[in-house]
Amino acid sequence: MNKPLHIALAGNPNSGKTTLFNHLTGARQHVGNYPGVTVDKKEGFFSFHENSIRVIDLPGTYSLTAYSVEELVARDYLVNERPDVVVDVVDASNLERNLYLTCQFIELGIPLVIALNMVDVAKKRGIKIDTDKLGTLLNVPVFPVIARSGHGVDELLNAVLTTSLAPEHPPALLRYGSDIDGVLREIVPQIESRNLLTDTYPARWTGLKILENDEQILEKVQAADSDLTRTMVQRSEALTHHLKTTLDAFPEAVIADHRYGFIKSILRQGVVSRTHDNDRLYTSDKIDKIVTNRVIGPLIMAAILFVLYSFTFNFSTFLVAWLNAFFGVLSQSVDSMLPDGPVKSMIISGVIDGVGGVLGFVPIIMFMFFGIAVLEDSGYLARVAFMMDRVFHFFGLHGSSVMPFIVSGGIAGGCAVPGVMATRTLRSPKERMATLLTVPFMNCGAKLPVLTLIIGAFFSSHQARYMFLATVAAWLVALMAAKFLRMTVLKGESTPFVMELPPYRFPTMKGLFIHTWERTWQYIKKAGTVILGISILLWAMMTYPGLSPEQTAGFESMRQEISASQAPDAKTRIQHINGQEAEAKLRYSVAGRIGIALESVSRYAGFDWRTNIALVGGFAAKEVIVSTLGTAYSLGEVDPGNTTSLKERLEKDPHWNPVVGLSVLAFIMFYAPCFVTIVAIASESGSWKWGFFSMAFNTIFALILSVAIFQIGMLLGLA
Ligand code: GDP
Ligand code: MG
Repeated sequence: MNKPLHIALAGNPNSGKTTLFNHLTGARQHVGNYPGVTVDKKEGFFSFHENSIRVIDLPGTYSLTAYSVEELVARDYLVNERPDVVVDVVDASNLERNLYLTCQFIELGIPLVIALNMVDVAKKRGIKIDTDKLGTLLNVPVFPVIARSGHGVDELLNAVLTTSLAPEHPPALLRYGSDIDGVLREIVPQIESRNLLTDTYPARWTGLKILENDEQILEKVQAADSDLTRTMVQRSEALTHHLKTTLDAFPEAVIADHRYGFIKSILRQGVVSRTHDNDRLYTSDKIDKIVTNRVIGPLIMAAILFVLYSFTFNFSTFLVAWLNAFFGVLSQSVDSMLPDGPVKSMIISGVIDGVGGVLGFVPIIMFMFFGIAVLEDSGYLARVAFMMDRVFHFFGLHGSSVMPFIVSGGIAGGCAVPGVMATRTLRSPKERMATLLTVPFMNCGAKLPVLTLIIGAFFSSHQARYMFLATVAAWLVALMAAKFLRMTVLKGESTPFVMELPPYRFPTMKGLFIHTWERTWQYIKKAGTVILGISILLWAMMTYPGLSPEQTAGFESMRQEISASQAPDAKTRIQHINGQEAEAKLRYSVAGRIGIALESVSRYAGFDWRTNIALVGGFAAKEVIVSTLGTAYSLGEVDPGNTTSLKERLEKDPHWNPVVGLSVLAFIMFYAPCFVTIVAIASESGSWKWGFFSMAFNTIFALILSVAIFQIGMLLGLA
């Protein structure tokens, strides 16, 4: 029996490869792994006109660089396994972008057939494509298909059979401008004459990869011929330097520009025409001319974010007040219903104060999430990524880093855990590490309550403005930290930006509510479980061990003495004793001892031991900071029936003032990420080393910053 014909489906993510694969193979398929990596390998069999065919669904990629595992897997498969025919699945509704990968296939000189997929979608959008012309210009057979219905697949397979019989598939020659072409003309003959990797790659392709600084190819050529490699690398470095000075661009970027230029020149020759103009994509383009304009774009962005804050804070106030009143009433009724003792103390100070403090912020978080959902669902967030790329590039990051930052709280509210996971879309490992280590600097949903509390207590006249400033500060610190990391532990080049701008659309109310609710519910669930547990644990740490019987007796006898004296100020004096007793109790407790021990360092930043207790609790989860401060201040409270909110207590406390507030604020924003985030960092980076690194790096940085703020603030007499 003949060996089955071997075909591979390749193309951009979402171009419909898997749909086509399923259509071809039906149930005769299985999923495995490519050796050594966690990328799915789908393989199946089918027969067509008496030919048995083996088909592979390659991972979707936008390019064939060495930056991501998927791209390496795809290109290694193509050159090592040598499929008889490669079917390039191209999304017809997104032609220009998809052909970028096609360019690289034709440069590789592999046997290629283009499946122009989703022609139904293209038609609906008013895009008409002349497939024959496209095929002629690319010198590759092109067949329109609809993978979902199987329309056109037979014609495609016939072309596959024909292509498999063709004797040769010479690589296409793209032009890259005089600088790059000049260098290629020098090095390609050298590669050819020494047969450097020519069994696997066309010489020109190897040359291009060397100019692109492709790590995998550099390693291979180095191993094969180190002398020639040295001269070629020198040539490549000289070129890089030249392009940097003349065009302010890296060779990779110039190469990418020329590929797009090649595609544009093909498409402009009457390949694509529009049948109607009232296209959503077209309208999007017009909007984008303004919204992503170099000058107006960032202004619009700042304005939109500011409106988001004003909206959130102005509209949520009344709900916050209601919730706080509700928890106040709840605490009072528990107080009157239960007898004094540890159970009552635990329910009021551990459960109601702790969880109530967190839930009280739900309205703010809900409004914030709603605003973000509007930006996300409308397609505006992708524009933010697009505009931010230039800035991000400067800091050694990538435009795609913006999503992880925003998810982590870049527009305040969010969570670093999904943020760390969202870095998976970044292709370069170093840019990815720099992003995942700096996203915890953003103001996640859990930090919001603390920020709101402190801003409310000390800077209440300009709440929205200070929240906005806190966001700007978070971005600044994250970007500087990224730059620092990229210059030290994560040194390396940046990758050029390729990202799609989805068309604008009106968000649906249902979609908005679902998004808002999902995130709010996550927050509430955390409050109900983790935070409840930690709140009770911290209550226990703050309550035990209690004072010795002698000490308690001492306070008791002082009280009795005062009562017996019948002095006119007896009541206030007893209250004073009560306060002293409560404070002595807290100091004596486990938590108090930890907090006091830490004072030796923290006093330089202006934190007293109660704040320290809360900050230590915040390691477990940032929400705990508010609840712990609540518990600490109510346990040490002079008058137990007092319902003054924590905010007012902080305002009145002699240990606190605006300078301390600012210093605490800075520390909370930037010190160690919560435990769950650290676990996520460790698992995403594949090493606990990075988990510990982020804990230490962030805490040391935050401490230095807070000490600076406190010392300078005190010097200037701003307290
Ligand atoms: P892959 O990432 O390349 O494997 O893409 P998938 O096969 O998962 O397809 C992405 C999406 O496009 C799915 O929702 C498919 O149902 C849809 N899709 C695929 N082919 C077609 C097509 O020809 N027409 C339409 N309208 N949708 C398609
Ligand atoms: Mg797929």
